[in-house]
Amino acid sequence: MTKVYFNHWFFRLPFIKNSNYGGITLGSRILLKREVIAISPLLRHELIHIDQIKQHGAFRFYTRYLWEFLKLLCIHRDLTKAYLKIPFEVEAYAKQYNTRGVQLKELSLNVYEVIASPLVS
Ligand SMILES: [Zn+2]
Repeated sequence: MTKVYFNHWFFRLPFIKNSNYGGITLGSRILLKREVIAISPLLRHELIHIDQIKQHGAFRFYTRYLWEFLKLLCIHRDLTKAYLKIPFEVEAYAKQYNTRGVQLKELSLNVYEVIASPLVS
């Protein structure tokens, strides 16, 4: 079950507070900086990462993600360029505007359950 957390405290941590990141996927949890009132490209982006994690397994996904990021950082010497060229990110950014429906069920304050994934193939 995928859970989505809005206004998460993670984005108030000192090293992340002033970054441009609006969401992060940790296993089956999606943490968002702000509340979204509809299925936004950002939420869809994070749901694509959920599908990638399901497809590759969490260990392979995160080790490959980190490995690709470090490799690209050595090549480009730029954090943003390296991040945007990670193959998992390239796929997520390419698909985040596909408008297949997702529904969210409110569980409690700022916590939602994804009840339909946009990427079921
Ligand atoms: Zn991403």
